[in-house]
Amino acid sequence: MKFLIIFICFATSSYSGDFFFHISTTTNQIALTFDDGPSAVTPELCDVLKKYGVKATFFVLGNNVKKYPSNLKRIYDDGHLIGNHTYSHIDLFKERKLPEHEKILLDEITKTENEIKNILDFTPTYIRFPYGYDKKWAVELAQKKGYKVFNWTFGYDWNKIDDEKLIKLYIDNIRPGAVFLMHDTPKHKKRILRLTEEIIKEAKNRNFNMVRLDEAVYK
Ligand SMILES: [Zn+2]
Repeated sequence: MKFLIIFICFATSSYSGDFFFHISTTTNQIALTFDDGPSAVTPELCDVLKKYGVKATFFVLGNNVKKYPSNLKRIYDDGHLIGNHTYSHIDLFKERKLPEHEKILLDEITKTENEIKNILDFTPTYIRFPYGYDKKWAVELAQKKGYKVFNWTFGYDWNKIDDEKLIKLYIDNIRPGAVFLMHDTPKHKKRILRLTEEIIKEAKNRNFNMVRLDEAVYK
């Protein structure tokens, strides 16, 4: 976890303003974000959010949009924000020459937009690159396409850890401006459903609003 925190601090200090990782740090608001969907678990995840009247942001993969079109529609119909997470969860850390790298990323972004457009009258304007990639060339390329690039303040749900400890870690990180990363994947289905519910309950107890990234206060 220390690595993650250091990584995020480093990532955001290089050129703040162009790259987001938290929302207002003085307002009692947090954002729940779910990456890698849509998936077989999306409807149940949406049920949990609906039960508490909470709106979230889903950074979706184009190839999963193709596999689960009705689950993408469910996200949209429930009033959540849909963001782009590339088509194939491309690893941008892999060494490539820049013109080729740019072409591949542009293709990944556009293909995802097209998959979404096949189902909804909607073009995403928020993007999160896989693995929290944040290099300037990629951020600028996405911005030219009209995107806001958004990482997160805390995420740990992919790690091998006891569920109770994981829930405590997330809850301990509820603070003004927190952007939580979780995953819309069936791999840890029970975990993700319970984690989401526990964060919501605790945040509500502490009078935090849970907002979509485009509805958050930024100052
Ligand atoms: Zn991802």
